[in-house]
Amino acid sequence: MYPCIVENLMVKFEDLGGKYCLGIESSADDFGVGVVDFTGEILANQSDSYIPIEGGIHPREAARHHADVADSVLGQALSKAALKAKELTCIAFSQGPGLGPSLRTGATIARALAAYLEIPLVGVNHSIAHIEIGKLKSGAKDPLTLYVSGGNTLVTAYALGRYRIFGETLDIALGNCLDVFGRKAGLKGKKGLPVGAAIEQLAHNSQHLVTLPYVVKGMDLSLSGLLTAATTVLQNQVCPSKSSCQDTCRLEDVCYSLQEHAFSMVTEVTERALVHTEKKELLLTGGVAANKRLQSMMAFIAKEHDAQFNVVPQQYATDNGAMIAWTGTLAYRYGLVIPIAESMVKRRWRVDKVDVPWIQ
Ligand code: AMP
Ligand code: MG
Repeated sequence: MYPCIVENLMVKFEDLGGKYCLGIESSADDFGVGVVDFTGEILANQSDSYIPIEGGIHPREAARHHADVADSVLGQALSKAALKAKELTCIAFSQGPGLGPSLRTGATIARALAAYLEIPLVGVNHSIAHIEIGKLKSGAKDPLTLYVSGGNTLVTAYALGRYRIFGETLDIALGNCLDVFGRKAGLKGKKGLPVGAAIEQLAHNSQHLVTLPYVVKGMDLSLSGLLTAATTVLQNQVCPSKSSCQDTCRLEDVCYSLQEHAFSMVTEVTERALVHTEKKELLLTGGVAANKRLQSMMAFIAKEHDAQFNVVPQQYATDNGAMIAWTGTLAYRYGLVIPIAESMVKRRWRVDKVDVPWIQ
């Protein structure tokens, strides 16, 4: 829960014009700064991503990257928004969940800005920001959401004051599963082409399904066994289900099979939650939402259950500052600001621990 609700900060809905929030995203590899006005217009959304020389995200290196680029990304965002810092109404930052060193770097910059400008600070839950930007950009009002990214995999919907979790990964996130596999396959993430997107491209060139572990436990799922098995098939290049296919497996076949298994698992859980909650909208958000095959599976189940399918636009799918700024405006309207002394980051901040009074 937010630590402080300041009654006199309540902003009436008719007073939204001319108010701006600057949002800082720094929960993992991306350092993003967005500026939005309180009506939901995005005036700027700038970012710079840390790209590891080899391997996955090194938390301290990512934090160092964020500190190095912060000045320039902030400057770009304000100049794109054509605003001076003193015109800002509040500063929002990604308070969690995420990697400690990365989160702390963004939080420090946000605190310094808020203190210097003498304006309120708003701590935003990163996962909720992915949902809210998806709703803003797609027009969905009350969706069941599948949020899939490098660090998170969960199925969630609003009920009784909070986003409730209906299913989630028991181990690694879907994006992380794709990224680790892709790196082992030598698919280095280049600027503009995330590893997940490289896997998607290769998967287009195969329809050869290799049997891999499919682990759904109730409403939760597990992806680590799938990752290990896919990596083993890749290394051995031998199909585990020899009787039904050729003896060798190309990289394209493993990419295709990995996607089909992983996406079917999240789709199964999402479909069950859709039936249970009887929501009439389905939202796909987070970095992996850019994947067209996953989008088609989600669109299929939405149609089956008479729900409207929505997907976050690609430029807001991956971590970004605009989603933090927008969610900051929603929280600020309800006086959900935090004193600097209480603005510690929360590395494991779950969506179901956060009150969302802006949803009625
Ligand atoms: P985020 O954690 O929200 O910044 O999103 C980054 C994640 O999205 C990484 O795991 C990427 O590999 C993944 N990603 C980006 N584009 C795609 C795509 N087209 N298909 C699958 N995963 C993707
Ligand atoms: Mg990211």
